[in-house]
Amino acid sequence: MENRQYLLAKRPVGQPQRSDFEYRTGPAPDPGPDEVLVRNRYISLDPAMRGWMNDARSYIRPVQIGEVMRAGTAGEVIASNSPLFAPGDFVYGSGGVQDYYTAQARHLQRIDPQLAPLPVYLGTLGMPGMTAYFGLTEVGQAKAGETVVISAASGAVGSVAGQIAKQLGCRTIGITGGEAKCRYITETLGFDAAVDYQAGSLRDQLKAACPDGIDVYFDNTGGEILDTVLTRLRMKARIAVCGAITQYNSTEKTAGPSNYLSLLVNRARMEGFVVFDYAPRYPEALARMIPWYQEGKLLSREEIVPGLETFPETLLRLFTGDKTGKLVLAV
Ligand code: NAP
Repeated sequence: MENRQYLLAKRPVGQPQRSDFEYRTGPAPDPGPDEVLVRNRYISLDPAMRGWMNDARSYIRPVQIGEVMRAGTAGEVIASNSPLFAPGDFVYGSGGVQDYYTAQARHLQRIDPQLAPLPVYLGTLGMPGMTAYFGLTEVGQAKAGETVVISAASGAVGSVAGQIAKQLGCRTIGITGGEAKCRYITETLGFDAAVDYQAGSLRDQLKAACPDGIDVYFDNTGGEILDTVLTRLRMKARIAVCGAITQYNSTEKTAGPSNYLSLLVNRARMEGFVVFDYAPRYPEALARMIPWYQEGKLLSREEIVPGLETFPETLLRLFTGDKTGKLVLAV
């Protein structure tokens, strides 16, 4: 069995290039004691991957030069030396950008393709979905009747956060790029309004969409969008700092919000979070989200791109916004 792999060859400067990766083929590994051999079927492409390529202190160790590029994957068990899994089982794991990997059985999570298609476990019912749920309910403390604003609203995290906000009874506004995505989040996902950051004044559009101000901002972008949202906060507003995709490829100093004194004036708070801290509570989130998914109240959209070879270029689509929903590589 041939194993195609992408290894990190160089630390990118700015936007990652194909030459930052090494494409290699070799034999699939053999599973050791208590290990399982998994054939990846879908590879998750996440903005966080850009941060993992930097040699910087973070919530997780950087990918080392010469290592397989880290990625969450959904795959099929091919061989197992553990009583926990048998060939034919489907699992979620940190399988990396490659065809095959081995892992200790205890590090894998069983997933059920009868309940949802495999790519959904990389998005809505996976890590991005958990990020949306805990970012909104725990960090943002969103409550019925409040106004919630979400950036990167058509994406993996944002689209789920918006739909959960609607389930909680919030007035929900999404910020996204382009007319088609604005229509998608309002007409298909049920957001109350959309703001197009690529068209006209963000400030004027936000003012029109949130005339009474914002109670919760779920921030996926940072940058100018965060700075503009700060000007529209209500008293005791909460900002959940989920990500700052506008800054990940920047070669300059991270742009901080100049309007931060709005936090003082409005007795508001801004709090960052990392989804993995909530891992023990994922079952609690899924107990609410799976019924919503089954009842059609939580729609899931994946943009599935075929071909492991396309990885370097496909990854960049996260940063150009050239996709809708969760970006996944099919292998
Ligand atoms: P995603 O939203 O599916 O894809 C990225 C989206 O970011 C793009 O589709 C685009 O939105 C938007 N974007 C890219 N460049 C932009 C720019 N210059 N200005 C405005 N928007 C821009 O990705 P995701 O996986 O759901 O991740 C969303 C955010 O959550 C990221 O910041 C990520 O790092 C963060 N995150 C955090 C955690 C955590 O534990 N804190 C966990 C998972 C993800 P449009 O399509 O609307 O243009």
